[in-house]
Parts: sequence; C-alpha cells; structure tokens
Amino acid sequence: MAIIINGKKIANEILENLKEKTAKLDKKPGLAVILANDNDSSKVYVSSKEKHSLYLGFKSCIYRFDKKVTQGELIKAIHELNENPNINGILVQLPLFEHLNANEIIEVINPKKDVDGFHPINVGKLNSNLNPWAVCCTPKGIIKLLKKYNIKIAGKNIVIVGRSNIVGKPLATLLTSEDATVTLAHSKTKNLKSITKEADILISATGHAKLIKANMVKKGAVVIDVGITKQPSGKLVGDVDFEKVKNIASYITPVPGGVGPMTIACLMENTYELYLKQNQ
Ligand code: NDP
Repeated sequence: MAIIINGKKIANEILENLKEKTAKLDKKPGLAVILANDNDSSKVYVSSKEKHSLYLGFKSCIYRFDKKVTQGELIKAIHELNENPNINGILVQLPLFEHLNANEIIEVINPKKDVDGFHPINVGKLNSNLNPWAVCCTPKGIIKLLKKYNIKIAGKNIVIVGRSNIVGKPLATLLTSEDATVTLAHSKTKNLKSITKEADILISATGHAKLIKANMVKKGAVVIDVGITKQPSGKLVGDVDFEKVKNIASYITPVPGGVGPMTIACLMENTYELYLKQNQ
C-alpha cells in the first residue's frame, strides 16, 4: 500500500517556522485579500487565509465587495493597496463576479506585491527562469511535498492532468526546470488512460471527482491529487479514486490533508518573502 503524503504536517512545519521568524520582526508582513464574489467556497478560502495570517502575526486586511462593485472601483482599491507601505502581498480571490474582468484586475497589481504569482510579469519571469517575485502557491507546494518525501523529479515522466493558469501550466514549468519530462493533459486529450499509465508521477488538477481510476495508474507511481470537489453530503473528495489507487501507487496525497494545506502555507511563505524583498 502507498505511503500517504501528509501535507497537513509539512504545512504546519512551514507555518510554525514562519511564526517564529515573524515574531522577531519589528514590523509585520501585511496581506490584503480582495473578495468580489458571493460563492461559498471563496468565502471559506478567504476566511482561512485571514485565520492563518492572524495566527502567524501578519497584518490581514480583507476587502469584501458586493455585486454592485464596478471594475473601476476594484482597480482603484488595488492602486491604493499598491501604494500602502503596510501591505506586502495582494491577492484577488478568483473567480470574481461575472461582470468583472479578472485578467485586467490582476494586471493592476504591482508585480512586487503579487503574492499569488499570477501577474503576467511574474508568469513571464517563471517561464524564462528569471526568479519571479512570487511563485504560484499550489505548484510551489507540490514541489515542496515531493522534495520533502525525497521523491526524485529529474528524469521522471510526469503527467499533469489539467492545464489551468493557476495549477497545471505553472507546475509544468517548474517541473521542467527540475529536469522532469512533463506531459500536460486536458479535457481534449485523446486516450487519457494510455498517457497517465506512463507516468512515474501523476498529478491531477481537474475538479472532476474520481477521474483517475486504478487502471489509469502505473504500479508504483507517485500520485498527487490537487482536485477538490464538494459532494452533496458535504464531504470533500479529490480527482483520484483514493481507496483503489492507494493499493497501486507508491505515494499518494489524500483529499483533504494533502495539497490543500500546502497551498495556504505557501501563500503565507510568499507573503513573508515579499515582505523581506520589499524591506531589503
Ligand atoms: P480549471 O477549471 O481552471 O481547470 C481544470 C482543468 O482540468 C482544465 O485544463 C480542463 O481541461 C481539465 N479537465 C477538466 N475535466 C477533465 C477531464 N475529464 N479530463 C481531462 N482534463 C480535464 O480548474 P483549476 O485548475 O482552478 O482547479 C482544478 C481543481 O483543483 C479544482 O477542483 C480546484 O478546486 C482544485 N484546486 C485545489 C487547490 C488546492 O490547494 N488543493 C488549489 C487550486 C485548485 P480544459 O483546459 O480542456 O478545459
């Protein structure tokens, strides 16, 4: 049976370490989160970000906007945060209300405060191996998990299912920089099973519950499950048929308790690191 990768434990180690380092600072790192959406999951994610920031001793500012907010008002709020010396990281919780243009709003964030690493300048830097101000949190967390468990990346065949700008694409870039051979699959990929079966490391980020079945996984593969789907019962499940795949994989992440806690820990780490870079 596979070793269960304990993302919660590793995330807690990162958080405790950040808490200790933050206690020694004169001024505290500041994270601003913009919520312009009334979706329940987004509200839960934003509250969790606030709770973690406060636990670490960061300054946390949540800006909640209702449906009447205009593109111009959000852009103005971001300009103010860009100028605010107490704010080191700015995060726009996605998705936004449908009438808003998320790409345009993210471009307004000062790249030096772009804590999610979504600004085109940071995406370009990542793709050019030019040290972005911040690296997207979920991909960063996945690389940390693999390294913490001494899972070799160089030379491995890695298949990522899902090509979003926030998970699949930046993760493919990071893993390619770590000398893996990466295949990026998506909803138009033909014969997905024949591709996933070749993976030494299989990472799924689709939001499609139980997409990855046991017969799609090579024996001994490492399986990383990014997906989160809330079932009608309220239970959270991943993209991977965990109960069956754990008998085939060598390592596997659970949902919850795998990648999710690492994403939030990396967000906190990014805030801290931006603070240091802005105060050098
Ligand atoms: P998106 O909807 O932006 O992207 C989903 C990707 O999966 C797309 O590339 C899509 O293909 C692909 N896809 C969907 N269905 C299939 C399928 N049947 N076969 C193959 N590929 C498929 O989602 P996100 O990247 O934002 O999030 C993905 C999942 O990860 C969600 O469940 C989300 O909640 C979760 N998530 C978890 C995080 C964590 O910290 N654990 C952080 C971020 C996200 P196409 O491009 O062709 O449409």
